Order: sequence, then C-alpha cells, then structure tokens
Amino acid sequence: MARVPCCLKAVIVFYLSIYISAKFVEGQEKFAPEFYSLQHINFTKNENLTKVWFEVRGKNIVEGLHIKATRNEAKKNSLCEGELSYPVREVSSKWDSAVYEISVPRVVAGNLYFCLPHENREFKENVHKLPPSMLRGGLYKWYHQGPEVVIKIPHDEHTWVERNRRQENGDDIIQVMGLRLEVHEKDAEFDENGVPEVLAGVDHIIRIFGKNFVDSMVVTFTDRKSNSERTCQFPKNGLEFTVINGSFSPETARVKINLPPMGTSEVLYMCAKESNSTVFVHQGDDIWLQIRTYETLLPLTVTILIVCSCLFFSALFSGLNLGLMSLDRTELKILCNTGTPNEQKYARAIQPVRNHGNYLLCSILLGNVFVNSIFTILLDGLTSGLVAVVFSTIAIVLFGEITPQAICSRHGLAVGAKTIYITKCVMIMTFPLAYPVSKILDCILGEEIGNVYNRERLKELVKVTTDVNDLDKDEVNIISGALELRKKTVVDVMTKIEDVFMLDYEAVLDFETVSEIMKSGYSRVPVFEGNRQNIVTMLYIKDLAFVDPDDNTPLKTLCQFYQNPCNFVFEDVTLDVMFKIFKEGNKGHMAFVHRVNNEGEGDPFYETIGIITLEDVIEELIQAEIMDETDVFTDNRSKRRRTAERRQDFSVFAERRGEGNRIRISPQLTLATYQFLSTAVEHFLPSVISETILKRLLKQDIVYHIKKNKEWRTDPTNIIYQQGKNSDYFVLILEGRCEVTIGRENLTFEAGPFTFFGTQALIQSIGIAESPSAPTSTLGSLESLNLDALIRHTFQPDYTVRASTEVIYIRIKRSLYLAAKRATLMERSQRDHTNEHFDEEVDKLLHSLEEDDAESGGRRTPRKRSSKNLNQQQEMNLSPKTPSLYSNVSPPHRISQRDINGSVISSPVEDSHLTKDEEVSLLSKKS
Ligand code: ATP
Repeated sequence: MARVPCCLKAVIVFYLSIYISAKFVEGQEKFAPEFYSLQHINFTKNENLTKVWFEVRGKNIVEGLHIKATRNEAKKNSLCEGELSYPVREVSSKWDSAVYEISVPRVVAGNLYFCLPHENREFKENVHKLPPSMLRGGLYKWYHQGPEVVIKIPHDEHTWVERNRRQENGDDIIQVMGLRLEVHEKDAEFDENGVPEVLAGVDHIIRIFGKNFVDSMVVTFTDRKSNSERTCQFPKNGLEFTVINGSFSPETARVKINLPPMGTSEVLYMCAKESNSTVFVHQGDDIWLQIRTYETLLPLTVTILIVCSCLFFSALFSGLNLGLMSLDRTELKILCNTGTPNEQKYARAIQPVRNHGNYLLCSILLGNVFVNSIFTILLDGLTSGLVAVVFSTIAIVLFGEITPQAICSRHGLAVGAKTIYITKCVMIMTFPLAYPVSKILDCILGEEIGNVYNRERLKELVKVTTDVNDLDKDEVNIISGALELRKKTVVDVMTKIEDVFMLDYEAVLDFETVSEIMKSGYSRVPVFEGNRQNIVTMLYIKDLAFVDPDDNTPLKTLCQFYQNPCNFVFEDVTLDVMFKIFKEGNKGHMAFVHRVNNEGEGDPFYETIGIITLEDVIEELIQAEIMDETDVFTDNRSKRRRTAERRQDFSVFAERRGEGNRIRISPQLTLATYQFLSTAVEHFLPSVISETILKRLLKQDIVYHIKKNKEWRTDPTNIIYQQGKNSDYFVLILEGRCEVTIGRENLTFEAGPFTFFGTQALIQSIGIAESPSAPTSTLGSLESLNLDALIRHTFQPDYTVRASTEVIYIRIKRSLYLAAKRATLMERSQRDHTNEHFDEEVDKLLHSLEEDDAESGGRRTPRKRSSKNLNQQQEMNLSPKTPSLYSNVSPPHRISQRDINGSVISSPVEDSHLTKDEEVSLLSKKS
C-alpha cells in the first residue's frame, strides 16, 4: 500500500473531526421544536377577552404542538417558569411556520412570551417522534423561546382616550413624513430602496420631516408594521429619543438615535408622541420612514482579543518565515550532529517540518496574510478607516514584522522549535491550499537541497568566521591547507635537484663521507651514477648502521645489498595524490620529480628536476614549516637556514689539515679524543676552551707514538713522565698501556687508553691569577692569561709514567693550552662586538708572544721536533723538587686517580714554547 504522508493523515483527521462534531450537534438538536420569530396578525377585543392572531416561524413545528405562554422574560432555551394556561388554538401548521390564536382576559396587557416542550433527556424515546397526544407530563420539559418571540398587548383604550383628548382640544396629531440620516459615526449603508442601515448601538443623528412637530415630541421605533395614525402597539422597549435642542421647527427636527440590534425584525418603523402623551402613534410603513440596523460580528472584548491574537500570530508567522526558512536543510543536519545538546534538540524538532520547505513557506505565508487581514478588518470595525489603516500599518510593521524578524534572525532555531506545534497546526489548517501550491512549486523549482559548500566557499567560510568561531589560527591554516592540496602540484613544493644532497654511486663510505652525510642531516640520500640527473637508488641512513668508516666500504656495495627502490612522479601530480602515495608507503616517503624534456633536437628524455618528501606535503597541509632535530634549513625552497643549528660537524676531523704532522691518528680516534676532552676533562670543557678551538688544538702536532722495542723497560724514550722531573705538558693516553709508579714506595699500577696525566701543568700559577680551588674551568681574562704565561711554571710529578706496550698518546704543552684559552677569549670577543677592549688585548697578547719567541730564540718548534728531542728536553727539565701527582677524573670505563700531592714551581717565563705560527693557526681557523 502506498504510504500516505503523515501531514496528509493529520489534515484528514482534522477535517473529519470537524465534520463529525458538526453532525453530532446537528443530530442533538434535530428534533427539538423552536420558534425563531413572531408576527402579529390581528387583535380583537370583546367585553371579556383579547384575542391575538400571530404567526410564528421556526422549525419542527409539528401539528398539534403544545405551546404555553408566560409573562416572564428569559433567555432562549432556558427552562420556562410560570407558564400560563391561556388557551392557544392552532389555526394552521406547516412544520417551519404556524398561525395560532391566543385568548387572554381583556384586563391583561403587556408582554407575553412562549415556551415549547423539549425532550426530557431521562426519557429514552425521542418525544418529538411521538404524536402530540403522547406528550404528557414527566416526559418533557418547557423551554423558553427567548425575548424576541413576544406578543405585546397594549392598553388599547389609551390611544382612543388620547385621540379624543387632542381632538377635543383642537390639536393636530404629530405626523412624520420622512427621515434623513444626517450624521453617523461609521459608514451607513442604504439598501436598494434607499432604506438606511446603521450600526446598532452607535449614535446617529437623523432629521425628520413632517407637520405638527412640538418641542417636547418623543420618537421611538417598532418592528410592527401598521397604518399611520394607529397606536404604536409594540414600541421597542427603552427606545425614546427626544428632539435635539435648537433643531426644532414645526416641520423638521433633528433627533439623536441609538438603535438596538434588529434581532429577527426586518425593518424598524417610526412612532412619535408628545412627551406628556401616554401612547406612541405609528407613522406608517412607507419606505422613507423605515430604518434598519446591523451589528458587528463580535462583541468588543472578543474583537480586541482577536486583534491582539492576530498581531501575535502575525509576529510569529513572519518570525518563523525568516527563522525557519533561513535554516537550510544542510545546516539542520549539521546541527543535529554537532550542535550543543539544546541545538540538537531544536534542530531535530524542526527538521521534519523544514524538509517540506515549500509547504512550510506556503502555510506560513498564508497564515500571515490571513491574520494580517483579520487584524486590519477588525481594527477597522473598532475605529474609523484612516485610524485603522495607520494603526494597523504601524502595528504590523513594528510588532508583526521588524521585531519578530530581528529576534528570529538570531534565535530562529529556538523560536521555531518551541512553536513547532503551532506551525504544524497551521500547516494542517492551510493544507487544502498550501499543499497543492507547494507541490506545484516543488515541480517548478525542484527539490530544495540546502547550502552546499565547495572547496573555495568552505575555505572562505572558515576564514571569514575566524573572529567568531573557536578555531585557532593553526587550525584555520590546516583546514585551508587541506582544501588547497588538490590545487598544488609537486613542482610547487619540491626541493630542486641542484639543492639535493646526493652521493655518487662510486663514493666510498669512509669517515669523511659518513661525516658529510651526518652533517647534511638527511635520512634519505639519493645516489646518482654519472651525472646528478641519473638517480639510481637511495641510501637510507639506517643502512649505515653496520658500516664501519674504517672499512672504507664502497657505497656501490651497500646499494647493491639493500637495493632501495626509487619512486618517480611527474611534475604535475597534485599534492593530494602525492599524499596518498606517501600514505601507502610502498616506495618510501621520498619521490623524485621528473618531467619529459623535449627541448632541443634529440629524443625526448626524462629529466629529474627535484625531490619531494612526505614532510614537504605535510608542510603544505598545515601551512607551516616543520623542523625536526636534524633539519638544517627551515625552508628547502628559500634555503633559509635554521637559527639554532645543532648539528656537530665531524668532517673537520677528516680534513687533511693535519697532513704535516709526524704521526696521524684516525679521524674516529680524533673524534673520540675530542669528545672525551670536551666532556670529561674540566680544563677542556667548552666553557674553558671553545669547541672550534679544541678541534683546532687536536689538529696540532701533539700526537706521540712510543714503539715497543727490546729494551723498553730501560729505554728513557719510553718514559712519559719522570718522577721529580719538571714537566709542562698534559698527557692523554689514546692507545696502549702504561705503567705508573707512585711515591717513595714505588707503588705501581697500569693505566690504559683515555687515562690522562699532568692537568696541574696546565693550570694557572697559584696565587697569581686564581686560587687552585677557583675554577680553572672559568676562562679568566686576557691579562691574567698573559701574566700566567709570563711566569715560569713548572710541574714536578711524583710519579713515573712509562709505556708498557706500544702507546699512542697526545701531549699538550702548557703554552699551547694557554694559547688555546687566549684564542677562545679572542673568539668570544670577536663574537661579542660590544667589547672592543678585547681586540687591544689580543694585539697585546700577540705582541707578548712575539717577545717570548724572540726571548726563547725560536728554540722550540714542536712541529719540527722529533719525539726523541722532546723526550730529551723533558729529561733536561727534570727537577728534584717535591713530587706531586695531580689527580684527574678518568673516563668512567677507565681507572680513576686521586691527587696525592704535587708541587708547582713558578718562575719567570722560559717556556712559552708555542710559536707565533701555532697561536695564529689556532686563531685563524675559527669558524
Ligand atoms: P626524516 O625527517 O624522516 O628523518 P629528513 O629530515 O631527512 O627525513 P624530510 O623530513 O623528509 O627529510 O624532509 C625535510 C626537507 O628536506 C624536505 O623539504 C625535503 O625536500 C628535504 N630533503 C630531504 N632529503 C633531502 C636531500 N637528500 N637533499 C636535499 N633536501 C632533502
């Protein structure tokens, strides 16, 4: 079975219920007899009785219907009280009308009302279906037919008395011949015969024309037709209008009237009398003497209530029109899923109604127009036309349009959800008109799909609402970046091929190459063969894990072993595609961008123009540069260098600068020495000697090699330190083992690689520059260093260090150490331009060195000296002074030595052994 929309069901139920209830009420009242109106036909009087013929109109006036008269006035259909048993004779009966004759005693005058029998609800049978003879007591009750169904029995004799009196006095009777409506508050209407129709209950002024008018004349109206000059038998109760002061003349007068609603009467006739007369005289039934009244539909309070309700609904409808229609279906769907709990609740309530966009629109507009019209019409009824127009315009614009629309433009969702039942009711009520119209609109305009945001609009939406939404700038950037991915190609973000760090396929993985790779900081290094365009494979840095630089492994071997694939993409590949490829990760996170080069005369060929990595794509995605721990550049395209570059440059150890040295050690050992000195020996910490200066220092000719020979126990050249012999150098064992003999007891122990001796030979003179406890790690000033250099400073060890195997060690002389410190100071002063004072001091230092060199006659140039000579000189410096062993902290895996005692002798300068060349070489190599 085809599914019926629920709104359609609701509409059907609504109209069905109206129909059924109407039918039910109708059924209830179907058989009850009722008089609507009563018309006098004739009066007759005899000595005892007054007989009145009257015609009634109504329904269910069955033949033989019992009717009773009462003198009590009461509301229609109220229970009758004080029924009189005047005989009523049925003259004729026609179901909806009947003529009766009632006989009352002659003395009776005034109003007689009528009562009819209704069904007694306790009696099961319907009495009106029964013959009248069966309508007996107990089966029915009497119901009043209202004040309109009335017979007015006059005191007839007064008319004749009055007439006789006036005739005896020779007065003429007042005679009205015509009337004209002069002033009226509301528009009066006139029927086709020109009979005026005035609003009941409102004052009007009429001008009457006639003769024999007197100042004290009184006018009234009756709905009973009669000939002129006859007694006005049924004047309307309480209606007596006097002539307006000053408007009187014998032929014309102005009278202010205020007529009641007509009720069942069709027209009102005029009656007039003198004020002291007792009876009114009917002025005839000419149409120029007739007048009618009409009523407003509703009572004033009800009208005001309806006007206010209309204004409220007008406001609601125009608010809903803006509020609901501005919420498109997409927005509602979004709110249903992502709004606050309240928003979700509201959106869910509105969604089913909003889905029928055109139907909703038609219903709301129909409702709005309907209430606006009623508002205006009722207002017009309450006031005059102009006031109604002005007031309704102001009220509708101000309260019916502007205010609700302003509110609903902000709170449309909440207002719409809270009034959803009203909206649904309106939709049901307006269904017959609104639904077909909406269907036609749907057919013409197509289905409403709501706002759809494309890439550009979505991006712009996020951007323009940055101030009000709670998105961070970064989040906005990420959203924009994600939406722009498809618009950018790899060529826009790649690193150009000329900037790529690559390795030659024929390269050898020695220390220098590995250092270069480490220095570059990249995890993936393309490998080319022949020219840089010809990329053959890729080297991952982790592939180097098992490679020892000492082995000088050819790169080719490593590449053949790992055979890492290369991923080539064309330059026009968009970033979203690239991102997808990287996400899959089958060919790694680096791709080579190539293009077909068909320039020139030869065959077209593939040309590699750059590389792109996942990081490049992600940077575009988040619209920001990503810096990792190894990055050298912040931006690979602009080649902006990173400010805080933290990479260690080990390639300096591989430089061939130390080629002139007698003995060369491997770069790895130099690196290890450097790392040990700069971290474990406090005299060489970076705070004392800068890293660059220390690197330069290690490139000096300071490496010594003791080869093992047959007489190594007795050979004096094997002695590194001689107990009690002056020594001005520091020693660090790099390879091999030494025998250390201490004190008078000649205690002996062995020392291995990375054990160091003689740090006391390096420190400044005691009591001159700084106390021994003072940190030698602090650099001091140039003055103090110069002074220190000027003073002869001799260290006498209280131990002997002798090579027990082949030994490689470094020996740093005090003068070289002091020069390194000075160079560090100068380097820092150059970096700190604010302190110009240092430059002068550097000059002074160099000058003093020059003098020192001159004094020492250039005797010692370590670069040219052989180890033998050096040892001889050491021997010459032997001194019987109190020996001392200056303690040092050995590396953790080596032995730890503690200071026992030792002495330092200070004397005038004699051993500024470093040449000026060496000083300058240290300084000039600063980075
Ligand atoms: P990872 O971060 O995975 O260790 P990485 O730091 O070596 O890798 P990426 O982070 O992928 O490299 O890329 C950082 C930037 O360096 C990117 O702009 C990329 O184009 C560039 N890049 C990567 N490798 C090289 C290379 N060998 N030569 C030049 N530039 C490179």
